[in-house]
Amino acid sequence: MAEPKFRAPKGTRDILPPESARRRSLSDAFAVLAGQWGFGEVVSPMFEDMGVFKRVGESTDLVTKEMFDLFDKGDPPQHLALRPELTASICRAYVEHRPVPPWKVWYDGPQFRYEQPQAGRYRQFTQVGVEVLGTDDPQADVDVIALGSRFFEAVGLTKVSLLLNSLGDPACRPDYLKALSDYLDSRRSELSAQSQVTLERNPLRVLDSKRREDQTIIDEAPLMVDFLSEESAAHFQQVRSGLEALGIEYEISPRLVRGLDYYTRTTFEFAADALEASQNAVGGGGRYDGLVEALGGPDTPGIGFALGVDRILLACNAEQSFEAAPSPVDVFVVDVAGGSSALTICESLRGVGLGADRAYGGRSMKAQMKLADRSGATYAVIIGDDEIASGEATLRDLRGDTGQRRVPLAVLAGEIRRLLQDNGV
Ligand code: AMP
Repeated sequence: MAEPKFRAPKGTRDILPPESARRRSLSDAFAVLAGQWGFGEVVSPMFEDMGVFKRVGESTDLVTKEMFDLFDKGDPPQHLALRPELTASICRAYVEHRPVPPWKVWYDGPQFRYEQPQAGRYRQFTQVGVEVLGTDDPQADVDVIALGSRFFEAVGLTKVSLLLNSLGDPACRPDYLKALSDYLDSRRSELSAQSQVTLERNPLRVLDSKRREDQTIIDEAPLMVDFLSEESAAHFQQVRSGLEALGIEYEISPRLVRGLDYYTRTTFEFAADALEASQNAVGGGGRYDGLVEALGGPDTPGIGFALGVDRILLACNAEQSFEAAPSPVDVFVVDVAGGSSALTICESLRGVGLGADRAYGGRSMKAQMKLADRSGATYAVIIGDDEIASGEATLRDLRGDTGQRRVPLAVLAGEIRRLLQDNGV
């Protein structure tokens, strides 16, 4: 076969059946849990004014290097960007619509980052997430983290660890940043070239470096937890006791920092131990008490997380969990008498809520039976000249061992529905 002229752009991929059905079930499972926790869905635009993202992370790679930005055709043109994450958009929506706080919302959709693609790292990927705006109650942090943990359990992942840290607040962060900068400055020449540049822009992000030459320096760096103000320390303690009360295991990870600048206090990450260490983050989140204000809104605390759907599915593969949902096709109609019976029988089966499919193009019995098998259907309904003459259909069990029998067409749909219900399908 000739090479295709066009392929999906670098870092993007097509998600085809049956994998797409598995992904849909994963999203549905998240939607169900988020609903149980009292969250409502927000569907926001995939692009925003570039300023929305600039405001929140001027000194981060996400904003300086990884944005897909564009100018529209307006006069003057507007500088837009495909969203690299959704927290900023949710906060922009909060400022725009002023809902009554606390505002508990969830989302599910594609994000765009101009990154170097590799396994588990794409330029378009999907996140599901939640945000709670308008409360700084540590129990909101616990509720949010618990939702993430329970979601991983619900999809059958057993090897996901929860890493927890506190990044302090505006009262204590400056002292820590000063101590950290002084320390990193004193060891500047030992840092990787990249981390030396990062140090200029944002010393905290140096802690995020995965480069080998930086590791001892990072290991010996001062820790935020030793600088927490009384209030932040109390908040952190309440989050910890809340998690313990719910039996949610966590590890304190004193060097955990987050990609964007606006995080305060509680910070956490979910790491899938079944994935390669460099790409094992399946989700992360935290408190961002200054973000709404940075976007021109009232002083509003917030907490949330984003989970990476693509990586969660990779972790499910590695743990052999979250099988694809059973085929929604219950019945495959094999019509070797011209095809018009298949048309009306499918219609009547679908009319009673069953999944029904058929072949096209007058194919042989053998070819149609092959398609029936591949469809995942539980039953085949076979129509030939004989069946048409007697006003019946042959009903064949494709999965069990009950063989086949004739059923009058008039009662066929009801009969199949009864059989499926009896078998708990
Ligand atoms: P972040 O918004 O960077 O905290 O990312 C939250 C989660 O999204 C991460 O833990 C990953 O699971 C996922 N994620 C982030 N960037 C990518 C990417 N480029 N490709 C695939 N998944 C990603």
